[in-house]
Parts: sequence; C-alpha cells; structure tokens
Amino acid sequence: MNKSPITSLDPDDWVAFRQQSHRMMDDMLDYLEQIRQRPVWQDIPETTRARYSEALPREAISIAAAHQRFMEEVLPYSAGNSHPGFMGWVQGGGTPVGMLAEMLAAGLNANVGGRNQMPVEVERQIVRWMRELFSFPETASGVFVTGTSMANLMSVLIARTAALGKEVRQTGLCSDHIRLVAYTSAEAHGCVAQAMDLSGLGKQALRRIPTNAQHQMDLASLKAAIAADRAAGLRPFFIAGTAGTVDVGAVDDLHALAALAKAEQLWFHIDGAYGALGMMSDKVRPLLRGIENADSIAFDFHKWGQVPYDAGFLLVRDSSKHMDAFAAPVAYLRREARGIAGGSPWPCDFGPDLSRSFRALKTWFTLQVYGTEKLGQMISYTCELAQAICSAVQAHPELELLAPVALNIVCFRYRGLPSVQLTDHESDRLNQEIVFELHESGVAAPSTTIVDGHLAIRAAIVNHRTSEEDIQRMLAAVIASGRKLISR
Ligand SMILES: *Cc1c(COP(=O)(O)O)cnc(C)c1O
Repeated sequence: MNKSPITSLDPDDWVAFRQQSHRMMDDMLDYLEQIRQRPVWQDIPETTRARYSEALPREAISIAAAHQRFMEEVLPYSAGNSHPGFMGWVQGGGTPVGMLAEMLAAGLNANVGGRNQMPVEVERQIVRWMRELFSFPETASGVFVTGTSMANLMSVLIARTAALGKEVRQTGLCSDHIRLVAYTSAEAHGCVAQAMDLSGLGKQALRRIPTNAQHQMDLASLKAAIAADRAAGLRPFFIAGTAGTVDVGAVDDLHALAALAKAEQLWFHIDGAYGALGMMSDKVRPLLRGIENADSIAFDFHKWGQVPYDAGFLLVRDSSKHMDAFAAPVAYLRREARGIAGGSPWPCDFGPDLSRSFRALKTWFTLQVYGTEKLGQMISYTCELAQAICSAVQAHPELELLAPVALNIVCFRYRGLPSVQLTDHESDRLNQEIVFELHESGVAAPSTTIVDGHLAIRAAIVNHRTSEEDIQRMLAAVIASGRKLISR
C-alpha cells in the first residue's frame, strides 16, 4: 500500500516547518505587541472580499503561501476587539497567554466530550474553581459551551425538565405543558427570548418585566406578573436575572430575586455573560450579592475574563437536575470501570455537544498565569475607566449622559452647545453618524444602542488593553466629529 499522502513530514520537511512556525508565531506576537499602532478597524477592500468566492482548492499550496494570504487578507480586517480603542458591544481582548494555550490545545487535538483523560480533569478543575468563586456547593456541575447564548438555552431546558419531570424528554411538550411561563428584565439580552423560542416554550411565554431608574428588573412588577399568571391558571417556572445588562451594564437585585424565586418555587437563573466574573473584583463583587443563591449561572470567559473566543460556561447548583436534562445512555458511549471509556460522568452528559474542543485549557492558563487577583484588578480598572468617561461626559457642555454607570458601560450622546436645539430625530441621526465616522477613522470603536428611546453612543470598556489615553482619544474624536457634523 502507498503511504497516506498527509502523514508526518519527513525530517527535512520538519526543519522547514519549524522555521515557518516561528515566522507565524513572530507575526502574531508582533501583531499583539504593536496593536496600538494599527487602526481599530478598517473596511475590507472589495478585491480582498472577492477573493473569498474562489473555487474549492484542488491543488495544494505551501503553508507559507497560505500564511502570507492570512497576513495580507485576513489579519488586517478583523472587527478589532483586541485593539485598545475597541469599545463596542461587549467583547474581550484576548491575551498572548490564551493564544499560546489555544495552540497547545490544538496540537493535542483532544476531544473533550468525555473519557478517561487529563483534558477532562482540567475542565473539572475549572468547574471546581467556579464553585469556589460563586460559593456553590460541592454537588454543583459545570460545563464549557460556546457562549452565554447556548448556556442560557441550556438553563431553560434544565429548568423545564426539572419542572415537568424527565418524561418530557420522551413525550415532548404537550398542550398542558404550554402553560409554563418565564420572567426576565425588559433589558435582558435577546438570547433569553431566543432560548424560549428554541426550547419550544415560545417567546410569548416570556414576561419581559419593566425596569426601574437603575435599569434593574422591577420587583413589584415581577411579583404582580407571577400572581396574575398563577391566577390565569398558568405555571410560572423560571426567572432569569441579569448581572450586567448588555445595553447599560445594570445588575438586577440578585439577592431579592433569589429570595422571590425561592418563595415562589421557581428556577432562578442568572445571565452573567460578562458581569458574573466581576466576582474576581473587590469593586464589583458587592454588586453581585445574591449570585451565590442562583440555581444556575451562565457566563463567558471570553468577555471580562479575556480568554480567546470562544469560552462560555454554565454552572448548575444541582448536578442531578443538570444531567436529567441531557444525559442519555447509548451503546457506543458505554461507560466502563477501566480503560479509556472510564471516568463517567463526562462533559457530554451535561449538554447537547458530544465532540467538544479543549476550551478549558486556555481558561486554565489564563486563570493561573494572571491569577484572580490581577484579573479582578483589571476588571475594577475597566470600571474606573467607565467612571472617568462618565465624569468627562457630565462635565462637558456638549455631551449628555443617558444612563447611570453601574459597571463598565457608558451610554451618552453628543448634543452640541446648549444653545443648539436638536429634535430627537436629528439627535439620533447625528450620533449614528458620529459612530460611523469613528469606526471609519480607525481611532476608536464605540457602538450604539437605544436608551429610553434615544440613540446612544455606547462605550463598553471590556478590553484589558484599554487605557485612559484611549478613552480621552475616543471622547475627543466624538466631540470633533459632532462639532463638524452639527455645523453643516
Ligand atoms: C454577550 C452577552 C450574551 C450573549 O453571550 P454570547 O457569548 O455572545 O453568546 C448574553 N447576555 C449578555 C448580558 C451578554 O452581554
């Protein structure tokens, strides 16, 4: 028989391959070291975009040639979330430590669906660390997933199975089950409604509770909604609190929500996508009081945790309820007392994925190499930067703050000098245009959102690289662009 055409390289090829690997590593380290000198973002040239409609490659090219294409066509045109000037949405900056760990994980090519292997133990170590961080009991379970969108969906499925019993996995939802209703803040992330949709319970069964002046779910309205649903013969089963709303960074009163959920015997889930890891920060931890009473917490290591994408996580207080929703005995996944098929339960028993990447490794490296103290200080620092933006906005006659700043997100707008009277429509258009100009200039990249009906410039400081200089540059660019546009 012939050899496989893509088995190991021969010794001479390995020498060249190592040299190539050093060039690739150097290029990526140069990119991270010198990222400040690059624009935050630049639009993709049409010629570059067009090259990505080419036919399936039949002939091989060298790795050096593919690398060159990457350097010229891909690297300069990412969204820019690793750049210190990036303040859009809620995205982490990644680290060189995470990058190297990801390379090690890919080299090992572990399939962390299960089996008797150290990569599963590394994931279990992260589960133990997260139990400790959130003061969860020894019996709590956890699992890596793509992100909080997936973790929120899984929490709805776990709560559904806990409410209806495991039979629901056989029967599916029948008309009687459609009475299940869930509750979340009107400012919750869209993936909470999506979770209701994908779970078959339907978005209509999600009550979006109004918020108070602090943008927190209003408790009196929540209680009234639960009572009204019970009176109507419906069956409340799930409350999703938010630790760090995506628009303004508000934290629901988690302590009160936990107490209410307990009294009403509802599952209490927390969407802590970016805010939950604030537990590492002395400044943020007090705001999260009550998080330790949740039935489940969804969060992302890839946001405030700075682990490279993707690294979402779901922590569940009662591991048996967690497994009830997902574990399924099948012959080809038989568990054994010895050998590679030992060591059950496996990560695949705690979610819908069977084959899974070794997300735990880059998280394990990040938590060890930086330590939770430094990571917590970095999180506190992003909040201090947000407070500095907030103060600068309030002190400037041409800027207006649109929401209180609880964590690391500032929503504001350019309004011109007090003598200028803009209609709501003009103000929205002006601020949208300012953000377009900022993106296209490559200087800074805030995003936009709607706060109380007004279009806001939204600066979320998530990236550990962002400094005071970057926020000054962003504010100066907003003001310069606003003045120029308003004078037209
Ligand atoms: C980012 C975010 C999500 C979605 O998380 P993904 O990891 O992008 O799936 C959900 N909720 C909140 C509050 C978020 O900030």
